[in-house]
Amino acid sequence: MTVLALHAVRRVAIIGCGLIGGSFALAIRKARPEITVTAYGRSQTTLQEALRMGAITDVSSSLPDAVRDADVVLISVPVGATHETLSSMRAHLKPTALVMDAGSTKADMVATAQTVLGENMASGASPEATSHFPLSHFVPAHPIAGKEKAGIAHAEGDLYANRLVILTPSSATAAPAISLATALWEAVGARVIQMDADTHDHVFGAVSHLPHLLAFAYMNGVDPSTIAMGGTGFQDFTRIAGSDPVVWRDILSTNRTEILAQVQGFEQALAQLKSALTEGDTVQLQTLITQASAQRKAWRVPAPLSDSNAIDD
Ligand code: NAP
Repeated sequence: MTVLALHAVRRVAIIGCGLIGGSFALAIRKARPEITVTAYGRSQTTLQEALRMGAITDVSSSLPDAVRDADVVLISVPVGATHETLSSMRAHLKPTALVMDAGSTKADMVATAQTVLGENMASGASPEATSHFPLSHFVPAHPIAGKEKAGIAHAEGDLYANRLVILTPSSATAAPAISLATALWEAVGARVIQMDADTHDHVFGAVSHLPHLLAFAYMNGVDPSTIAMGGTGFQDFTRIAGSDPVVWRDILSTNRTEILAQVQGFEQALAQLKSALTEGDTVQLQTLITQASAQRKAWRVPAPLSDSNAIDD
């Protein structure tokens, strides 16, 4: 028993219909109007807003109801809530369903899926025999798209257009599940690549998680009486500090080991600048700035994202 091909998908369930889930719902409704899209979440206000926006076709009153008939399930809750969400839905999923998460950290998601769904494999019983959902149908995904504003009100139907989506399948993931996940993200306009979960967490630790941590630290440390005068440099540097606290608490916590290692590298770079300033070594100061400036000038927005404005993740 395997997952369906995209043309046969009739029902998608969104669990956590905020910025990322709501945007996927809007986009798949536009790309594939024949697909019904249901959603389940904590707040009725969110679900009713998603219905009003046309992101979903109906609201599910419980998690089992949401996933029972779904061919595809997208879990788009903060990463810290994924374990409980996957555990609660496990017994109610169709064995042929595809389940994806959209979390910003991936090694933790692979481990969570292994913990929650892996025992089905360990028991040796086939999914058909046990009606258990197979680990092979879980595909971890990370859309490199978003913004610093959370919630369904900020969802956009073209959020994924021309953006990268990274899949981090494990050795347990079935090829047809990867194919359907790829087809779905491509249907909403994204370009899909694959990466192993640890590499993903190293890369996004560097280009996303560490910059968010530094932006949070800067905002907490800066003299508040000065910021009213902030110009475009302040605006560019601090935009991501306005990100959702729960979403980012969970991202930083689940990629903690990688981020802490990268903080050490940052501290060394900061210490070099601090030392040059302390010693009044303007030659060294200019050398360090030249090195940073050259590195930044050589950077190009990755090709599929080149016409985008905000590229958060
Ligand atoms: P969001 O707008 O705050 O949406 C999160 C959704 O999850 C909301 O619908 C919320 O329900 C629900 N939720 C929150 N806490 C929950 C809990 N403890 N249990 C069950 N449901 C809960 O956040 P988002 O930006 O869409 O982020 C969702 C996921 O996408 C996260 O894993 C994040 O790492 C990932 N992601 C985010 C971005 C980005 O730029 N924001 C980019 C790529 C990936 P209510 O509406 O009922 O409160």
